Amino acid sequence: MQLLDGKKIATEIKAEISAEVAAMKAAGHRAPHLVAILVGNDGASETYVNSKARNCAEVGFESTVLRYDNDISEAFLLDKITEINNDPDIDGLIVQLPLPPHISVTKVVETIDYRKDVDGFHPVNIGRMNKNLPCYISATPNGIMMLLQRYQIETAGMHCVVIGRSNIVGSPMSILMALNAEPGNCTVTLCHSKTPDIRKFTRDADILIVAIGKKNFLTADMVKEGAIVVDVGMNREVSDKTKNGFKLYGDVDFDEVSKKAAWITPVPGGVGLMTIVSLLKNTLAAAKKEYYG
Ligand code: NAP
Repeated sequence: MQLLDGKKIATEIKAEISAEVAAMKAAGHRAPHLVAILVGNDGASETYVNSKARNCAEVGFESTVLRYDNDISEAFLLDKITEINNDPDIDGLIVQLPLPPHISVTKVVETIDYRKDVDGFHPVNIGRMNKNLPCYISATPNGIMMLLQRYQIETAGMHCVVIGRSNIVGSPMSILMALNAEPGNCTVTLCHSKTPDIRKFTRDADILIVAIGKKNFLTADMVKEGAIVVDVGMNREVSDKTKNGFKLYGDVDFDEVSKKAAWITPVPGGVGLMTIVSLLKNTLAAAKKEYYG
């Protein structure tokens, strides 16, 4: 078994981004600027947003976190997004999910200017991704693609089984793996909670990408010898053995599955770190107006 080491690759990519930002600044340009909007006080969302801001600082980006109470109106939030859309000093905007139930995620996502949509959730970016055109790709699937690319995993012709069909992970992941690209060119099966006998598919998979949010769901008996296994799951459990009071578990039973897999991502230290790096890459691309003028 070999590790798909997200920590190592994320560190390498962050060094590359830092060097590029330093060169931009030396050439008289301002630093890329990411704005994150956080509504309410969900603990996990707070952790993610703080981590994104910290990572921005590490590579020399400017970042702003706008925090609002749970009871702000949808109209207020949409106005704020429009204001940011029109601000030439801001390159990228993310609105941390989940949002309170009285605010429409669809309206929020569609109000963000697709040219600043570094989360890659806007229909324009999703449509362009489907057509294999340059665009912002959702951070987690894009991070997984970067990880496979850096490890030079040749995926053409493989059977890729994605478990989970969310808009932010499973669904875009299945599209990317099927595109005529490298990594890509897979025959893809997309499984979800209504898929009967999931084992039938997982046992045939050359690449397994698991994104369902169920601790240790994928067990060794579900995996073919020599498979490539990517674990997206981030299942937090209270623990008195860690500094922050939580322990993170993936969707894959790492100890057992790693005995059969050729390549596998750990949790933590795998996909999560690549997700943040992918957001940084998208923000840099936005500052450079790489995809849209
Ligand atoms: P989500 O929106 O809750 O979607 C979960 C998906 O899993 C759904 O499509 C659901 O099927 C499917 N599912 C649930 N139970 C299943 C089962 N027993 N068998 C087969 N399919 C099942 O979750 P998400 O946002 O994609 O996140 C998934 C996991 O990844 C979570 O642990 C999350 O914390 C983690 N995550 C990690 C990162 C990272 O950076 N590492 C980023 C995002 C998410 P239905 O559609 O039929 O309901």
